[in-house]
Amino acid sequence: MKIGIIGGGITGLTAALALRKSGITSVVYEQAVELNEIGAGIWLQPNAIKVLDWLGLKGEIQKQGIELNKMEITNNQLIPIKKIKSEVVQDEDGNRTIAIHRARLQKILYNEVLKSNEVHLNKKYIHHSFSSDSINLQFEDGEDSVDILLGADGIDSSVRKALFPNSPLRNSGQVCWRGISKMNLPDSLKSLGQEAWGKQIRFGFSQIAKEEVYWFAVANVEHLKKVDGLDRKKFITKLFESFSPIINELIANTESTNIHQAILHDLKRLPDWYQSKMCLIGDAAHATTPNMGQGACQGIEDAFYISKYLSKSPQNVQGAFEEFQLKRREKVDYVVNTSWQFGKMAHSTIGQPIMKLLMKMTPDSVINSQMNKLYAIDK
Ligand SMILES: Cc1cc2nc3c(=O)[nH]c(=O)nc-3n(C[C@H](O)[C@H](O)[C@H](O)COP(=O)(O)OP(=O)(O)OC[C@H]3O[C@@H](n4cnc5c(N)ncnc54)[C@H](O)[C@@H]3O)c2cc1C
Repeated sequence: MKIGIIGGGITGLTAALALRKSGITSVVYEQAVELNEIGAGIWLQPNAIKVLDWLGLKGEIQKQGIELNKMEITNNQLIPIKKIKSEVVQDEDGNRTIAIHRARLQKILYNEVLKSNEVHLNKKYIHHSFSSDSINLQFEDGEDSVDILLGADGIDSSVRKALFPNSPLRNSGQVCWRGISKMNLPDSLKSLGQEAWGKQIRFGFSQIAKEEVYWFAVANVEHLKKVDGLDRKKFITKLFESFSPIINELIANTESTNIHQAILHDLKRLPDWYQSKMCLIGDAAHATTPNMGQGACQGIEDAFYISKYLSKSPQNVQGAFEEFQLKRREKVDYVVNTSWQFGKMAHSTIGQPIMKLLMKMTPDSVINSQMNKLYAIDK
Protein backbone atom coordinates (compact mmCIF):
# COMPACT_ATOMS: atom_id res chain seq x y z
CA MET A 1 0.00 0.00 0.00
CA LYS A 2 1.61 3.28 -1.10
CA ILE A 3 0.33 6.38 0.63
CA GLY A 4 1.12 9.78 -0.81
CA ILE A 5 0.97 12.89 1.33
CA ILE A 6 0.71 16.24 -0.43
CA GLY A 7 2.30 18.91 1.77
CA GLY A 8 5.30 18.83 4.09
CA GLY A 9 3.97 21.23 6.72
CA ILE A 10 3.39 20.31 10.37
CA THR A 11 0.40 18.10 9.51
CA GLY A 12 1.96 16.28 6.54
CA LEU A 13 5.25 15.55 8.31
CA THR A 14 3.50 14.41 11.50
CA ALA A 15 1.21 12.19 9.43
CA ALA A 16 4.25 10.54 7.79
CA LEU A 17 5.70 9.86 11.26
CA ALA A 18 2.42 8.58 12.70
CA LEU A 19 1.89 6.25 9.73
CA ARG A 20 5.44 4.95 10.12
CA LYS A 21 4.83 4.33 13.83
CA SER A 22 1.74 2.33 12.79
CA GLY A 23 3.80 0.28 10.31
CA ILE A 24 2.76 2.11 7.11
CA THR A 25 5.21 3.73 4.70
CA SER A 26 4.32 6.97 2.98
CA VAL A 27 5.85 9.44 0.54
CA VAL A 28 5.68 13.19 1.12
CA TYR A 29 5.45 15.61 -1.84
CA GLU A 30 6.19 19.23 -0.97
CA GLN A 31 6.07 22.15 -3.38
CA ALA A 32 8.80 24.17 -1.68
CA VAL A 33 12.39 23.80 -2.85
CA GLU A 34 13.48 23.67 0.77
CA LEU A 35 11.45 23.41 3.96
CA ASN A 36 11.45 26.72 5.73
CA GLU A 37 8.82 28.00 8.15
CA ILE A 38 8.30 31.72 8.70
CA GLY A 39 10.13 33.53 11.49
CA ALA A 40 7.49 33.18 14.18
CA GLY A 41 6.72 30.96 17.13
CA ILE A 42 3.97 28.47 17.81
CA TRP A 43 2.26 27.25 20.98
CA LEU A 44 1.85 23.48 21.04
CA GLN A 45 -0.81 22.54 23.56
CA PRO A 46 -0.98 19.27 25.52
CA ASN A 47 -3.11 17.42 22.93
CA ALA A 48 -0.34 17.96 20.35
CA ILE A 49 2.42 17.25 22.87
CA LYS A 50 0.80 13.91 23.70
CA VAL A 51 0.98 12.85 20.04
CA LEU A 52 4.53 14.16 19.66
CA ASP A 53 5.47 12.24 22.81
CA TRP A 54 4.00 9.05 21.29
CA LEU A 55 6.27 9.75 18.30
CA GLY A 56 9.29 10.06 20.63
CA LEU A 57 9.79 13.77 19.92
CA LYS A 58 8.63 15.45 23.11
CA GLY A 59 12.12 15.54 24.65
CA GLU A 60 13.64 17.31 21.65
CA ILE A 61 10.77 19.80 21.46
CA GLN A 62 11.13 20.53 25.19
CA LYS A 63 14.86 21.04 24.66
CA GLN A 64 14.44 23.45 21.77
CA GLY A 65 11.37 25.27 23.12
CA ILE A 66 10.08 26.65 26.41
CA GLU A 67 7.50 24.88 28.55
CA LEU A 68 4.77 27.26 29.73
CA ASN A 69 3.33 27.10 33.25
CA LYS A 70 0.44 29.44 32.65
CA MET A 71 -1.56 31.17 29.91
CA GLU A 72 -3.10 34.49 30.90
CA ILE A 73 -5.39 37.02 29.35
CA THR A 74 -4.55 40.43 30.80
CA ASN A 75 -5.37 44.09 30.39
CA ASN A 76 -2.97 46.23 28.37
CA GLN A 77 -0.74 46.65 31.45
CA LEU A 78 -0.39 42.86 31.89
CA ILE A 79 -2.73 42.65 34.89
CA PRO A 80 -4.66 39.36 34.50
CA ILE A 81 -8.37 39.74 33.75
CA LYS A 82 -8.83 36.51 35.64
CA LYS A 83 -6.19 34.64 37.58
CA ILE A 84 -6.09 31.19 36.06
CA LYS A 85 -4.65 28.23 37.91
CA SER A 86 -1.67 26.60 36.24
CA GLU A 87 -3.53 23.29 35.82
CA VAL A 88 -5.36 24.56 32.75
CA VAL A 89 -2.18 24.56 30.67
CA GLN A 90 -1.47 20.96 31.47
CA ASP A 91 -3.43 17.80 30.84
CA GLU A 92 -4.15 14.99 33.26
CA ASP A 93 -0.80 13.35 32.39
CA GLY A 94 1.13 16.53 33.18
CA ASN A 95 1.84 17.54 29.54
CA ARG A 96 2.24 21.29 29.28
CA THR A 97 2.04 23.76 26.41
CA ILE A 98 5.42 24.23 24.70
CA ALA A 99 6.31 27.42 22.84
CA ILE A 100 8.84 26.89 20.06
CA HIS A 101 10.19 28.57 16.93
CA ARG A 102 8.24 27.24 13.93
CA ALA A 103 11.38 26.58 11.90
CA ARG A 104 12.84 24.49 14.75
CA LEU A 105 9.68 22.43 15.05
CA GLN A 106 9.63 21.83 11.31
CA LYS A 107 13.29 20.78 11.34
CA ILE A 108 12.72 18.32 14.18
CA LEU A 109 9.82 16.74 12.26
CA TYR A 110 11.61 16.79 8.90
CA ASN A 111 14.84 15.22 10.18
CA GLU A 112 12.82 12.47 11.79
CA VAL A 113 10.78 11.82 8.63
CA LEU A 114 13.95 11.66 6.51
CA LYS A 115 15.20 8.71 8.60
CA SER A 116 12.70 6.39 6.95
CA ASN A 117 10.53 8.18 4.40
CA GLU A 118 10.96 9.59 0.94
CA VAL A 119 10.34 13.33 0.84
CA HIS A 120 10.19 14.91 -2.61
CA LEU A 121 10.77 18.64 -2.47
CA ASN A 122 9.98 20.96 -5.37
CA LYS A 123 6.98 18.73 -6.21
CA LYS A 124 3.89 20.85 -6.73
CA TYR A 125 0.68 18.83 -6.99
CA ILE A 126 -1.53 20.05 -9.86
CA HIS A 127 -4.28 17.44 -10.14
CA HIS A 128 -4.96 13.71 -10.15
CA SER A 129 -6.75 11.03 -12.18
CA PHE A 130 -7.61 7.38 -11.61
CA SER A 131 -6.49 4.19 -13.36
CA SER A 132 -7.72 0.79 -12.12
CA ASP A 133 -6.87 0.94 -8.40
CA SER A 134 -4.26 3.73 -8.47
CA ILE A 135 -4.39 7.47 -8.08
CA ASN A 136 -2.19 9.14 -10.69
CA LEU A 137 -0.66 12.33 -9.44
CA GLN A 138 0.22 15.11 -11.83
CA PHE A 139 2.93 17.45 -10.57
CA GLU A 140 4.25 20.61 -12.14
CA ASP A 141 7.20 18.53 -13.31
CA GLY A 142 6.26 14.89 -13.69
CA GLU A 143 3.93 12.19 -12.41
CA ASP A 144 3.69 9.48 -9.79
CA SER A 145 1.02 7.06 -8.64
CA VAL A 146 -0.17 6.07 -5.18
CA ASP A 147 -2.89 3.85 -3.70
CA ILE A 148 -4.10 6.36 -1.10
CA LEU A 149 -3.75 10.13 -1.01
CA LEU A 150 -3.72 12.46 1.99
CA GLY A 151 -4.10 16.16 1.23
CA ALA A 152 -2.11 18.07 3.87
CA ASP A 153 -1.50 21.09 1.68
CA GLY A 154 -2.82 23.79 3.96
CA ILE A 155 -5.58 26.38 3.92
CA ASP A 156 -5.30 27.01 0.16
CA SER A 157 -5.21 23.26 -0.56
CA SER A 158 -5.18 22.29 -4.24
CA VAL A 159 -6.21 18.74 -3.30
CA ARG A 160 -9.30 20.15 -1.58
CA LYS A 161 -10.15 22.30 -4.59
CA ALA A 162 -9.90 19.19 -6.79
CA LEU A 163 -12.14 17.11 -4.47
CA PHE A 164 -14.54 19.80 -3.33
CA PRO A 165 -14.46 22.79 -5.71
CA ASN A 166 -17.01 24.65 -3.57
CA SER A 167 -14.98 25.17 -0.39
CA PRO A 168 -14.77 28.89 0.32
CA LEU A 169 -12.61 30.56 2.95
CA ARG A 170 -14.17 32.97 5.45
CA ASN A 171 -12.47 36.30 6.04
CA SER A 172 -12.49 37.10 9.78
CA GLY A 173 -11.97 40.81 9.20
CA GLN A 174 -8.89 40.70 11.43
CA VAL A 175 -5.23 41.19 10.63
CA CYS A 176 -2.38 39.57 12.53
CA TRP A 177 1.26 40.62 12.74
CA ARG A 178 3.89 38.23 14.07
CA GLY A 179 7.51 38.67 14.97
CA ILE A 180 10.41 37.43 17.07
CA SER A 181 12.08 39.88 19.37
CA LYS A 182 15.72 39.40 20.32
CA MET A 183 15.44 39.74 24.09
CA ASN A 184 14.75 37.91 27.34
CA LEU A 185 11.61 38.49 29.34
CA PRO A 186 11.93 39.19 33.08
CA ASP A 187 12.14 35.92 35.09
CA SER A 188 8.55 36.34 36.33
CA LEU A 189 7.27 36.17 32.72
CA LYS A 190 9.62 33.56 31.27
CA SER A 191 7.25 30.61 31.66
CA LEU A 192 4.08 32.51 30.82
CA GLY A 193 2.00 32.74 27.67
CA GLN A 194 0.27 36.12 27.79
CA GLU A 195 -2.31 37.91 25.74
CA ALA A 196 -2.93 41.57 26.56
CA TRP A 197 -6.21 43.17 25.54
CA GLY A 198 -6.72 46.81 24.69
CA LYS A 199 -9.63 48.45 22.85
CA GLN A 200 -10.37 45.84 20.14
CA ILE A 201 -6.66 45.09 19.78
CA ARG A 202 -4.64 42.24 21.31
CA PHE A 203 -0.98 41.51 21.82
CA GLY A 204 0.29 38.02 22.79
CA PHE A 205 3.81 36.83 23.57
CA SER A 206 6.02 34.24 25.22
CA GLN A 207 9.68 33.36 25.42
CA ILE A 208 10.46 30.57 22.90
CA ALA A 209 14.23 30.25 23.45
CA LYS A 210 17.11 32.19 24.96
CA GLU A 211 16.99 35.73 23.57
CA GLU A 212 13.91 34.99 21.49
CA VAL A 213 10.43 36.14 22.38
CA TYR A 214 7.63 35.32 19.95
CA TRP A 215 4.84 37.89 19.74
CA PHE A 216 1.65 38.40 17.78
CA ALA A 217 -0.62 41.40 17.48
CA VAL A 218 -4.20 41.32 16.22
CA ALA A 219 -6.51 44.16 15.12
CA ASN A 220 -9.52 44.71 12.87
CA VAL A 221 -8.56 45.07 9.20
CA GLU A 222 -9.85 48.65 9.10
CA HIS A 223 -6.60 49.56 10.83
CA LEU A 224 -4.75 48.56 7.66
CA LYS A 225 -6.12 51.61 5.87
CA LYS A 226 -4.03 53.67 8.26
CA VAL A 227 -0.86 51.71 7.41
CA ASP A 228 -0.73 52.73 3.76
CA GLY A 229 2.72 54.09 3.09
CA LEU A 230 3.71 53.74 6.75
CA ASP A 231 6.49 51.42 7.91
CA ARG A 232 4.86 48.31 9.48
CA LYS A 233 6.90 48.51 12.66
CA LYS A 234 6.20 52.23 13.15
CA PHE A 235 2.49 51.56 12.70
CA ILE A 236 2.37 48.69 15.24
CA THR A 237 4.43 50.75 17.68
CA LYS A 238 1.83 53.53 17.42
CA LEU A 239 -1.11 51.12 17.69
CA PHE A 240 0.20 49.58 20.92
CA GLU A 241 1.87 52.64 22.46
CA SER A 242 -0.53 52.67 25.44
CA PHE A 243 0.34 49.03 26.27
CA SER A 244 2.85 47.86 28.90
CA PRO A 245 6.48 49.02 28.41
CA ILE A 246 7.45 45.35 27.94
CA ILE A 247 5.22 45.15 24.88
CA ASN A 248 6.74 48.33 23.49
CA GLU A 249 10.18 46.88 24.09
CA LEU A 250 9.23 43.67 22.25
CA ILE A 251 8.19 45.63 19.17
CA ALA A 252 11.24 47.89 19.38
CA ASN A 253 13.56 44.84 19.46
CA THR A 254 12.10 43.28 16.31
CA GLU A 255 13.44 44.06 12.87
CA SER A 256 10.81 45.64 10.68
CA THR A 257 11.55 43.28 7.78
CA ASN A 258 10.87 40.30 10.08
CA ILE A 259 7.35 41.35 10.98
CA HIS A 260 4.90 39.09 9.11
CA GLN A 261 1.40 40.24 8.28
CA ALA A 262 -1.60 38.02 7.48
CA ILE A 263 -5.34 38.54 7.15
CA LEU A 264 -6.96 35.82 9.26
CA HIS A 265 -9.23 33.34 7.47
CA ASP A 266 -10.77 30.02 8.23
CA LEU A 267 -12.43 27.41 6.04
CA LYS A 268 -16.21 27.16 5.80
CA ARG A 269 -17.20 23.77 7.24
CA LEU A 270 -16.84 21.01 4.64
CA PRO A 271 -19.61 18.38 4.71
CA ASP A 272 -16.93 15.70 4.10
CA TRP A 273 -13.16 15.48 4.25
CA TYR A 274 -12.75 12.41 2.05
CA GLN A 275 -13.74 11.03 -1.32
CA SER A 276 -12.87 7.56 -2.54
CA LYS A 277 -9.29 6.85 -1.39
CA MET A 278 -8.37 10.47 -0.79
CA CYS A 279 -8.71 12.37 2.46
CA LEU A 280 -7.89 15.88 3.63
CA ILE A 281 -6.12 16.51 6.94
CA GLY A 282 -4.97 19.59 8.89
CA ASP A 283 -5.68 23.07 7.55
CA ALA A 284 -6.64 21.58 4.17
CA ALA A 285 -9.70 20.03 5.87
CA HIS A 286 -10.56 22.46 8.64
CA ALA A 287 -8.42 25.62 8.77
CA THR A 288 -9.31 27.69 11.82
CA THR A 289 -8.59 31.25 12.94
CA PRO A 290 -5.66 31.14 15.40
CA ASN A 291 -7.46 32.56 18.44
CA MET A 292 -7.33 29.29 20.37
CA GLY A 293 -3.76 28.41 19.28
CA GLN A 294 -5.11 25.04 18.13
CA GLY A 295 -4.74 24.94 14.29
CA ALA A 296 -1.51 22.97 14.15
CA CYS A 297 -2.51 20.98 17.27
CA GLN A 298 -5.60 19.79 15.39
CA GLY A 299 -3.47 18.85 12.37
CA ILE A 300 -1.21 16.85 14.67
CA GLU A 301 -4.26 15.10 16.16
CA ASP A 302 -5.47 14.30 12.63
CA ALA A 303 -2.11 12.65 11.92
CA PHE A 304 -2.50 10.44 14.99
CA TYR A 305 -6.06 9.31 14.22
CA ILE A 306 -5.67 8.84 10.47
CA SER A 307 -2.72 6.50 11.11
CA LYS A 308 -4.72 4.66 13.74
CA TYR A 309 -7.73 4.03 11.50
CA LEU A 310 -5.72 3.22 8.36
CA SER A 311 -3.63 0.64 10.22
CA LYS A 312 -6.80 -0.86 11.75
CA SER A 313 -8.58 -1.23 8.38
CA PRO A 314 -5.93 -1.31 5.62
CA GLN A 315 -8.31 -3.17 3.28
CA ASN A 316 -11.19 -0.79 3.86
CA VAL A 317 -9.75 2.64 3.22
CA GLN A 318 -13.06 4.43 2.85
CA GLY A 319 -14.25 2.83 6.09
CA ALA A 320 -11.09 4.10 7.80
CA PHE A 321 -11.69 7.63 6.47
CA GLU A 322 -15.29 7.48 7.62
CA GLU A 323 -14.23 6.48 11.14
CA PHE A 324 -11.57 9.19 11.11
CA GLN A 325 -14.09 11.86 10.18
CA LEU A 326 -16.59 10.61 12.74
CA LYS A 327 -13.97 10.68 15.48
CA ARG A 328 -12.52 14.09 14.67
CA ARG A 329 -15.57 16.09 13.64
CA GLU A 330 -16.90 17.19 17.04
CA LYS A 331 -13.63 18.55 18.39
CA VAL A 332 -12.65 20.22 15.14
CA ASP A 333 -16.05 21.94 14.85
CA TYR A 334 -15.73 23.09 18.46
CA VAL A 335 -12.27 24.58 17.84
CA VAL A 336 -13.17 26.31 14.56
CA ASN A 337 -16.45 27.77 15.87
CA THR A 338 -15.16 28.81 19.29
CA SER A 339 -12.08 30.42 17.77
CA TRP A 340 -14.23 32.32 15.26
CA GLN A 341 -16.59 33.59 17.99
CA PHE A 342 -13.66 34.48 20.24
CA GLY A 343 -12.14 36.63 17.48
CA LYS A 344 -15.45 38.35 16.72
CA MET A 345 -16.15 39.14 20.38
CA ALA A 346 -12.60 40.20 21.29
CA HIS A 347 -12.54 42.73 18.45
CA SER A 348 -16.00 44.22 18.92
CA THR A 349 -16.84 47.21 21.13
CA ILE A 350 -19.75 45.42 22.78
CA GLY A 351 -18.30 41.89 22.65
CA GLN A 352 -15.04 42.52 24.47
CA PRO A 353 -16.53 43.73 27.78
CA ILE A 354 -19.02 40.82 27.69
CA MET A 355 -16.17 38.37 27.18
CA LYS A 356 -14.19 39.86 30.06
CA LEU A 357 -17.22 39.52 32.32
CA LEU A 358 -17.80 35.92 31.22
CA MET A 359 -14.14 35.11 31.86
CA LYS A 360 -14.33 36.53 35.38
CA MET A 361 -17.55 34.67 36.14
CA THR A 362 -16.61 31.25 34.76
CA PRO A 363 -15.50 28.97 37.60
CA ASP A 364 -12.04 27.33 37.32
CA SER A 365 -13.69 23.91 37.39
CA VAL A 366 -15.62 24.71 34.17
CA ILE A 367 -12.49 26.02 32.43
CA ASN A 368 -10.56 22.95 33.56
CA SER A 369 -13.17 20.56 32.26
CA GLN A 370 -13.32 22.39 28.88
CA MET A 371 -9.53 22.27 28.56
CA ASN A 372 -9.34 18.61 29.55
CA LYS A 373 -11.86 17.81 26.82
CA LEU A 374 -9.77 19.75 24.31
CA TYR A 375 -6.55 18.05 25.39
CA ALA A 376 -7.96 14.50 25.42
CA ILE A 377 -6.49 11.94 23.01
CA ASP A 378 -7.34 8.24 22.91
CA LYS A 379 -4.72 6.02 24.49
C1 LIG B 1 -1.15 34.03 13.10
C2 LIG B 1 -1.23 32.55 13.32
C3 LIG B 1 -0.84 32.01 14.54
C4 LIG B 1 -0.98 30.64 14.77
N1 LIG B 1 -0.60 30.14 15.98
C5 LIG B 1 -0.80 28.81 16.23
C6 LIG B 1 -0.44 28.25 17.50
O1 LIG B 1 0.10 28.94 18.38
N2 LIG B 1 -0.70 26.93 17.71
C7 LIG B 1 -1.26 26.13 16.76
O2 LIG B 1 -1.49 24.95 17.02
N3 LIG B 1 -1.60 26.64 15.54
C8 LIG B 1 -1.37 27.94 15.25
N4 LIG B 1 -1.67 28.44 14.03
C9 LIG B 1 -2.24 27.55 12.99
C10 LIG B 1 -1.14 26.77 12.28
O3 LIG B 1 -0.15 27.65 11.78
C11 LIG B 1 -1.72 25.95 11.15
O4 LIG B 1 -2.88 25.30 11.59
C12 LIG B 1 -0.72 24.91 10.69
O5 LIG B 1 0.45 25.52 10.21
C13 LIG B 1 -1.34 24.05 9.59
O6 LIG B 1 -0.41 23.09 9.19
P1 LIG B 1 -0.64 22.27 7.86
O7 LIG B 1 0.56 21.39 7.72
O8 LIG B 1 -1.98 21.64 7.88
O9 LIG B 1 -0.66 23.35 6.71
P2 LIG B 1 0.53 24.29 6.22
O10 LIG B 1 1.37 24.72 7.36
O11 LIG B 1 -0.08 25.36 5.40
O12 LIG B 1 1.42 23.36 5.31
C14 LIG B 1 1.00 22.99 4.02
C15 LIG B 1 2.21 22.54 3.23
O13 LIG B 1 1.76 22.09 1.95
C16 LIG B 1 2.58 22.64 0.94
N5 LIG B 1 1.77 22.73 -0.29
C17 LIG B 1 0.77 23.59 -0.55
N6 LIG B 1 0.26 23.38 -1.79
C18 LIG B 1 0.97 22.34 -2.33
C19 LIG B 1 0.94 21.66 -3.57
N7 LIG B 1 0.05 22.01 -4.54
N8 LIG B 1 1.82 20.65 -3.79
C20 LIG B 1 2.73 20.30 -2.82
N9 LIG B 1 2.82 20.93 -1.62
C21 LIG B 1 1.95 21.93 -1.37
C22 LIG B 1 2.99 24.00 1.50
O14 LIG B 1 4.17 24.48 0.86
C23 LIG B 1 3.20 23.68 2.97
O15 LIG B 1 4.50 23.23 3.24
C24 LIG B 1 -1.51 29.81 13.75
C25 LIG B 1 -1.88 30.35 12.52
C26 LIG B 1 -1.73 31.70 12.31
C27 LIG B 1 -2.14 32.27 10.96
